[in-house]
Amino acid sequence: MGNFDKIVNLCKNRGFIFPGSDIYDGLANTWDYGPVGVELKNNIKRAWWKKFVQEAHNSFGIDADIFMNSKVWEASGHTASFSDPKMDCKNCKTRHRADNLIEEYSKGKVNPDLMTNEEMEQYIKDNHINCPKCGKSDWTSIRNFNLMFSTSRGVTDESQNLIYLRPETAQGEFVNFLNVQRSMRAKVPFGIAQIGKAFRNEVTPGNFTFRTIEFEQMEHQWFCKADTSLKYYEEFKKKAMDFLLSLGFKQEHLRYHDHDKLAHYAKAACDIQYLYPIGWEELNGIHHRGDWDLSRHQEFSGKSMMYLDPYTNEKYIPNVVEYSIGADRLTLAVMCEAYDEEILDNGETRVVMHFHPAIAPYKVAILPLQKNLSEKAMEVYSNLSKHFMVTYDEAGSIGKRYRRQDEIGTPMCVTIDFDTLEDNTVTIRDRDTMEQIRIKINDLVNYVNEKIKY
Ligand code: ATP
Repeated sequence: MGNFDKIVNLCKNRGFIFPGSDIYDGLANTWDYGPVGVELKNNIKRAWWKKFVQEAHNSFGIDADIFMNSKVWEASGHTASFSDPKMDCKNCKTRHRADNLIEEYSKGKVNPDLMTNEEMEQYIKDNHINCPKCGKSDWTSIRNFNLMFSTSRGVTDESQNLIYLRPETAQGEFVNFLNVQRSMRAKVPFGIAQIGKAFRNEVTPGNFTFRTIEFEQMEHQWFCKADTSLKYYEEFKKKAMDFLLSLGFKQEHLRYHDHDKLAHYAKAACDIQYLYPIGWEELNGIHHRGDWDLSRHQEFSGKSMMYLDPYTNEKYIPNVVEYSIGADRLTLAVMCEAYDEEILDNGETRVVMHFHPAIAPYKVAILPLQKNLSEKAMEVYSNLSKHFMVTYDEAGSIGKRYRRQDEIGTPMCVTIDFDTLEDNTVTIRDRDTMEQIRIKINDLVNYVNEKIKY
């Protein structure tokens, strides 16, 4: 079994991520975070917010609605062109993305982003690219498939209006540009960030939570003057990389990937890719978007999106540098990076998740050595759980309990023994080194806080 399958299994068995609607045989490509997974993902979102809002001086958080006026999606271009080139296999009736077929066939040597639909079709025909499912090469022509989910709003049949589930969070940031600027008395350059759900009717979802139809994005738009935009673009490329390194990613597992094909309004765009067990894949994007988004909203809404510089009296529409990362895709990458199998001195293998302590689901596990120590252990548990997430386990041998905590990446295990009753000290074991030290119960909170700093 490859590491990816092992991680998927661990996720289900240890409470990270379950298949959605599991008892009804699931709903393809939907996933539910369990008690351990929700802590991990929340901690990752908090870490992101800390770097991109809390410590960012001039960035402001918002939480915009998922539903937006349909004109937003006309202005953003999503109604007309947020689509993937799909092809159906006439033989087995499965649906595929033409660009993916070409990328996989050419092993990344041909870039389908630079091709028109006609060119892609020709390439697939000339090279007799087969359907990955049934092996035949009997394709329909390419059609563009819009990825937005739509629904309708209205309480009577006649008054139904078509509305969309947002396919990205960014538009909430653009339409609130002046609301934030005025209410916070913000001066360009400044940023708007948010974390929220997005929905895409993906042609080829899959690879666990890597590509799903419902996911969370963490997006940050930086509004700046045109002549500074490329400087900020470079700064955000670095900041995005630094954020990943701060979570414990190894530099050699990350790389920049510049886009060959740019949108007409963009001066630059790149992704950061991560070396997943399935290969190098996009983790986040950094996009120079010029003044396109705000200009389009000015045009479609009829409302001015101009910023008035209070020092120079200059009026202009700022440029935008966008940084966008999927919270679920990042959580998956964090799990892949943390996963490790170590051979112990006694020949046994221990599976351990080396999460950065700040994002570990539980910070401490309280483990009484015997059941009759549980009263004292519960006292320690209640005290620590006022400060951070703590878990409690009194079932099974101490070795097995350590293994369970290693598998969910708990950085510290505290054992309560008979000496604890005498001298109010406990043993604390480090997940990574497995070393143990003895400390006073009264020092535990400070000790743990020091270890989980971010
Ligand atoms: P991809 O090329 O992988 O489809 P994209 O270029 O369409 O991604 P963006 O629209 O730039 O992605 O979205 C920003 C980020 O949101 C991505 O880098 C990724 O982390 C996340 N993301 C996008 N689509 C999905 C999805 N279907 N499932 C999970 N995360 C996603």
